[in-house]
Amino acid sequence: MSKEDAECREILEGADLCLCCLEPVRPGASRCVKCGAPLDFFAATLPFLRVLAEGFVYHRAVQTPRSWWSVAGIWLIFGETAVGGLLSLWWWVPMVLEFRNLELLIRGIPFVALTVVGVSGIAISTANYVAYRRCLRGNAS
Ligand SMILES: [Zn+2]
Repeated sequence: MSKEDAECREILEGADLCLCCLEPVRPGASRCVKCGAPLDFFAATLPFLRVLAEGFVYHRAVQTPRSWWSVAGIWLIFGETAVGGLLSLWWWVPMVLEFRNLELLIRGIPFVALTVVGVSGIAISTANYVAYRRCLRGNAS
């Protein structure tokens, strides 16, 4: 039996699949060989591993979106962060300019971080999706 046949047999018999790329995974594997997604049972329960697993999903959705639905999801998730950050900056910048207070300036750093994370997540995801679609069209013609 070839390796390909063995993989097909595993799939048909209900072998575990990677939740990110649907590649068959070996029982007990902690990461997918193809895409690197965390597969541990503990990734769903332990706080640190759970953060890594969720971070992987966000990272993959931003870096390699393959459908418009992924981009729309990123817009929803990161849009909330971007809007919150921008509204905070809208309030914070005039306060800093008026009072010129160092403590007030330092307290606004999280607002800047929120805005940067939100806007850059949307921008990177959208740009990567546009580039992906352009490559698909280029290969089709
Ligand atoms: Zn995978």
